[in-house]
Amino acid sequence: MPVHAETVLRNGAVWCGRAEGTVQAVALWGGRVLATGSNADIASLIGPDTQVIDLRGRLATPGLIDAHLHLLPYGLGMIEVDVRPKLAPTLDALLGRIKARADQLGPGKWVLARGYDQFKLDVKRHPWREELDRVAPNNPVHLVRTCGHISICNSKALAAAGITVATPAPPGGLIEVQNGQLTGLLAENGRDSVRKVLPAATDAELVDGIERAGAYLNSFGVTSCMDAAVGMHSHFREIGAYFTAERAGRLPVRTSMCLLGDPGPKSIVPDAHRAGLVTGVGHDMLRVGPVKIFTDGSAGGRTAWMSQPYQGEEKTFGVACQTNEALDEYVLDYHRKGYQMAIHAIGDAAIEQVLSSYEKALAAEPDADRRHRIEHCGFLSSNHVARMQAAGVYPAPQPVFIYDFGDLYYSVVGTARADASYPMRGWFNAGLKPSASTDAPVCDANPFPNIYTMVTRRTGKGTVVGGQEALTIVEALQAYTEYGAFAEKAEDRKGRLVPGMLGDVAVFSRDMMRAAPEEILADTKCDITIRGGAVVYDRQDETR
Ligand SMILES: [Zn+2]
Repeated sequence: MPVHAETVLRNGAVWCGRAEGTVQAVALWGGRVLATGSNADIASLIGPDTQVIDLRGRLATPGLIDAHLHLLPYGLGMIEVDVRPKLAPTLDALLGRIKARADQLGPGKWVLARGYDQFKLDVKRHPWREELDRVAPNNPVHLVRTCGHISICNSKALAAAGITVATPAPPGGLIEVQNGQLTGLLAENGRDSVRKVLPAATDAELVDGIERAGAYLNSFGVTSCMDAAVGMHSHFREIGAYFTAERAGRLPVRTSMCLLGDPGPKSIVPDAHRAGLVTGVGHDMLRVGPVKIFTDGSAGGRTAWMSQPYQGEEKTFGVACQTNEALDEYVLDYHRKGYQMAIHAIGDAAIEQVLSSYEKALAAEPDADRRHRIEHCGFLSSNHVARMQAAGVYPAPQPVFIYDFGDLYYSVVGTARADASYPMRGWFNAGLKPSASTDAPVCDANPFPNIYTMVTRRTGKGTVVGGQEALTIVEALQAYTEYGAFAEKAEDRKGRLVPGMLGDVAVFSRDMMRAAPEEILADTKCDITIRGGAVVYDRQDETR
């Protein structure tokens, strides 16, 4: 009996990987890649039961890997009030959407909203507590900025959290007071007491959220992701939700679970470690990933921790969330327990702190291939790349930040720092294998703006931010596939289309290799997504 493929994609431009190049066809069997080659090479693998997909010249690539996003909160947030700039460009529009939800929910129910960016609002400032009070006087309102690090609360929400004008801000947090009044703005740890009173999601709602966000990722050709802070929303219950989703066939994307390990009660690592959940445990659909610690905030929110002050604010250096001593201690403990680390650091002072902790842990207990990561890694000092190379520490950047926030970076950190931010070309040249990701819900999970800005370094407004850091389209795809796999130590199993590797394939409406960047951005779609040899998304239902 000859072996026949279960699925064959042919007549295309099948990009198998940077070293492997482009062929016409790929055959899948048993959930894996069986063979790649010309149409003629693959012809003998087509049997009577083989599903044959005619690519008609379109591009097929390995399934995309979003190496850092927040799958579960993203899915939960998809049913919150969406006030992103596209939908709410003005303060009135934003308030109107919040009012509509409050009216719909009725008095007393929490109104949860997210996605505003004060720089893109017509009023160029954060909404105020009183404005939220005006449109939702009988509902607690919690409005989260696009970065996820800043919240605006109305009076009912602040009262529910017990925050008054006399409440001191906790270390590493901000409770904003102006003219003796609460503005409603809370940042970082300043939000802890509100978080405690936000309505808890049920286990079923957590699973729904995972499935909702995962299906959305599939619609873009994304077949793998890392949830970059499992435990951030619902503590250890999120682990259970992931296993439940996977067992029920409701996990649409392969997920690496990055465990929240912030010092203190937020950490789920003690529970995870007791249960034997160490980096690498699991299987190709659901695996325990690295441990996450937050060390600073976001550049746009001026909370990323910088060694030099923010533009025009001589005393603002951002927010440092950890002391050096605490970080050293936690990193060494997790490192000794066998965890890979994925620490959030955006400003150069935070990156310095993290890199130093990694260097110390690796010196105390050497491991040539632990691949500790620095999440975001946006604004480096001059010696950081060389030190990362020497220590085997890798960046996990979001190039799409340039697209969404690049213009803002010029105003908050100035030209030189903005141009040098997220240095994809520099990392490529240094062999630091930068992955690509969106940090959704910080940015939309849509990969096309991300690919566009990797090859152009253009913002959404068209500004070129440090054009010398642009990649070729092949390099951009490599970041989104092979290097995403490398970041989770799975490059032997996915990220390229090579016989024996996982049968994860994305088919795009146009050949991005030959398209102008503007065409990639404006009208490229994912047509078909295949995960483990099975079609999980079909835009036209053409594989039925
Ligand atoms: Zn994140």
